[in-house]
Amino acid sequence: MMELELDMGRVITIDGPAASGKTSVSRELARRLGWNWVSTGAFYRGLAYTAYRLKYDLQDEEKLAQLSMSNKWRIEMTESKTRVLFADEDVTDDIATEEVGSVASQISRLPKVRDSLLGGQRDCRARTEGLIAEGRDCGTIVFPDAEVKIYLTARSEDRAARRAKELGTSESETIAAQQIRDKQDSSRKAAPLTIPEKAFVVDSSKLSFDEVVSKVEVFVRKELKKN
Ligand code: C5P
Repeated sequence: MMELELDMGRVITIDGPAASGKTSVSRELARRLGWNWVSTGAFYRGLAYTAYRLKYDLQDEEKLAQLSMSNKWRIEMTESKTRVLFADEDVTDDIATEEVGSVASQISRLPKVRDSLLGGQRDCRARTEGLIAEGRDCGTIVFPDAEVKIYLTARSEDRAARRAKELGTSESETIAAQQIRDKQDSSRKAAPLTIPEKAFVVDSSKLSFDEVVSKVEVFVRKELKKN
């Protein structure tokens, strides 16, 4: 029992819509706290990519859930990225596209797919001092007992502009794709994107990256001291 408790790190969750800056904020906050971080979106993107490469039927919930637990792909946490390996090929850069994001969003509405990915996401907490988990349902479903919950958002135009710059794609196409994805992610029945109870909401529209991280860090440190 004692060992089990020691094995489980503290958790902070950061949820929010597409391209709200969750990944870069999580990475920097993890660096400042000396903790690990994970993008739970990488699980959905990795499974979407694997299913696509292996020509799986994207509507077949059962088969996708089985694939999620197979050794055909895996996730690795590193300081800079949540890596996805398809067989032994590093496909982390390939899963970053809005096309893969869109397939990820399609399969993420399937309850069996969500359930099958939960164990792997929760395991990221084991043997860490602390974990920052970012995604859509981290504070509500994956880690409802997280000590600190953050909800990061920004105007849709600002989010699209940021992602278009990162990916080298057009802003208008990116905004359209993201709006569809946000709508799907917020309106689905299974674990929709919502603001977790007691979450600290940060709108980064008018803030620089450093300002966002500092705001989040001040709140997090204050909350962590309470426990
Ligand atoms: O965060 P990211 O853009 O990488 O997520 C890709 C997609 O994976 C999201 O649009 C969403 O459909 C799904 N996702 C989810 N729950 C999470 C993380 C991601 O449904 N916790």
